Amino acid sequence: MNCPNCNNPLSKENFEDMEVEKCSICQGMWFQEKEVDSLEDSIFPEDAWKNSMITNVRDSDRKCPTCQAPMKVFKYRFEDLEVDYCINKHGFWLDKGEEERIKEVMKEYADDLDRRQKAEANLKNALTKMRTPGFFDQIKNLLGL
Ligand SMILES: [Zn+2]
Ligand SMILES: [Zn+2]
Repeated sequence: MNCPNCNNPLSKENFEDMEVEKCSICQGMWFQEKEVDSLEDSIFPEDAWKNSMITNVRDSDRKCPTCQAPMKVFKYRFEDLEVDYCINKHGFWLDKGEEERIKEVMKEYADDLDRRQKAEANLKNALTKMRTPGFFDQIKNLLGL
């Protein structure tokens, strides 16, 4: 599997206890869809999605590393994250800059342990949620695909 950004072969790494495919050149990460994780529905109720979680969907100039289909980009309103994803539900891509931005936000919270732990838990929840089949179905529904 090659990087959708620079075509370098991706390698397996751990990020926040999750296995991801990471590019050693541009440091982007590919999160593949998990098998099934139905416990996540309660974290982001559907109404919250429709109202605020996903905005600004547009075509990406990148292709899915799994099936080579052109990806879409959406803005995920968790710290304004821009995410490329495969409409065939193979996974989603985060650029290095996006990961850095999350860490910046966490650093701002670092003087307050509770807030920091909460931010980290939110990130983990968000990334876990984004790997479930239901997440992709919800995007497809939103887009009318
Ligand atoms: Zn790359
Ligand atoms: Zn794909």
